[in-house]
Amino acid sequence: MEQVQRVISRAGERQVLMGEENMGIWEESEIKSECKLERNEVAIEFCAQSRNESFARMVAAAYTAQLNPTMEEISDIKTAVSEAVTNAVIHGYSGGDGIIRMRLALSGDEVQIEVTDHGVGIENILIAMEPMYTTRPDMERSGMGFAFMEAFMDELEVRSALGRGTIVRMKKKIVPGVLRE
Ligand code: ATP
Ligand code: MG
Repeated sequence: MEQVQRVISRAGERQVLMGEENMGIWEESEIKSECKLERNEVAIEFCAQSRNESFARMVAAAYTAQLNPTMEEISDIKTAVSEAVTNAVIHGYSGGDGIIRMRLALSGDEVQIEVTDHGVGIENILIAMEPMYTTRPDMERSGMGFAFMEAFMDELEVRSALGRGTIVRMKKKIVPGVLRE
């Protein structure tokens, strides 16, 4: 059975929560599928093609609009979603065929975004998360995707198993009551 890694990063602290578990990772999720009124969950599936990155970004921005975010908060979310989706396209599926699933949910003032691929998986998440670490320097990648997701979101959780895929889960609190233009 493949090893499932799970790393959670919050306020600059990274934590390995689990070294091993069975492969129920696709079923197990904090974002429950049940339609509770206050969670208002939405999920989309799309082909792993770079032309769908802007679509995913816009869906996340439109979804978050219900929390009345600032332009900066929207921009942070768009950047983080772009990085996660790009990674699924170019690393998870190496530019080949595949499906990406993005789920969005609310928890109070917090937006939760999950990007899942069933691609190659990540060998060592902690190493992959290091700024400037990339396995594709040939593609002029700078190794900053995870660093941006950490910087722009309040929480980043990555689960992965080799040969099975990767789940990137991000949370961001949208500060309520800020005066908008
Ligand atoms: P950049 O994001 O700056 O263009 P990068 O994608 O290489 O470069 P990160 O986004 O930080 O940098 O990802 C670091 C490494 O983690 C990648 O080079 C890749 O090896 C691995 N990785 C990230 N996401 C996935 C994924 N969904 N599936 C498989 N491997 C991944
Ligand atoms: Mg990247």
